Amino acid sequence: MIQIQLSERQEKIIDIVKANEPITSENIAKTLKLTRGTLRPDLAILTMSGILDARPKVGYFYTGKTTFSFISEKIQGIKVAERKSVPIIVDEQTSIYDGIVTMFLEDTSTIFVTSDGYLSGVVSRKDFLKNAIGGLNLNKTPIAVIMTRMPNIIVTTSEESIFEAAVKLIEHEIDSLPVVEVVSLDKDNKAYKVVGRITKTTITRLFVELGNNE
Ligand code: ADP
Repeated sequence: MIQIQLSERQEKIIDIVKANEPITSENIAKTLKLTRGTLRPDLAILTMSGILDARPKVGYFYTGKTTFSFISEKIQGIKVAERKSVPIIVDEQTSIYDGIVTMFLEDTSTIFVTSDGYLSGVVSRKDFLKNAIGGLNLNKTPIAVIMTRMPNIIVTTSEESIFEAAVKLIEHEIDSLPVVEVVSLDKDNKAYKVVGRITKTTITRLFVELGNNE
């Protein structure tokens, strides 16, 4: 075990838990004026490393441990940027039929969809299967009809840690995250440019490398 620096927010969480234990994640979030979703990766790191203990329906306790395991430190230190792979992207107007062909040719399980070059949706294998048996004209119907659309798309960024991205994959029960860059269209409008992807395969590959001590 080795000692490493926690983030400022993680230190704050520990102080809040020390002073209020047992405390629920809702109440920690309220104290910090953040959402529970934002805190989830921090709480996962703090419990995984043994600094906090979580008891279902009771809340978080401070255990008194102050060390991180080597593996925890390592996966927190790896940025999405270092691991992202090339995204498979089609335009919203692409037919469902061409989308299925793309999925086969590119050997991918998820396709990202863009409109005017910006992320507008995601299509997975199940989306195609669901609609293939629904009697749609696959050649005439645009992929936009069957995709999961913005703003419901879960994304990651190059600056996030690979651990935070993996937590999102598990929490949302999805196979793939677009890696995005936020672009300001005007004062009130933001859009996402897709610059990569993180998939369950990305995480599995890293897991194997860590197992091999690479
Ligand atoms: P599969 O269809 O192979 O089970 P997923 O589990 O990734 O693949 O997809 C399940 C559902 O979640 C699909 O409807 C898909 O459109 C949606 N989905 C996939 N990735 C994302 C994402 N990053 N953000 C939001 N929804 C997604």
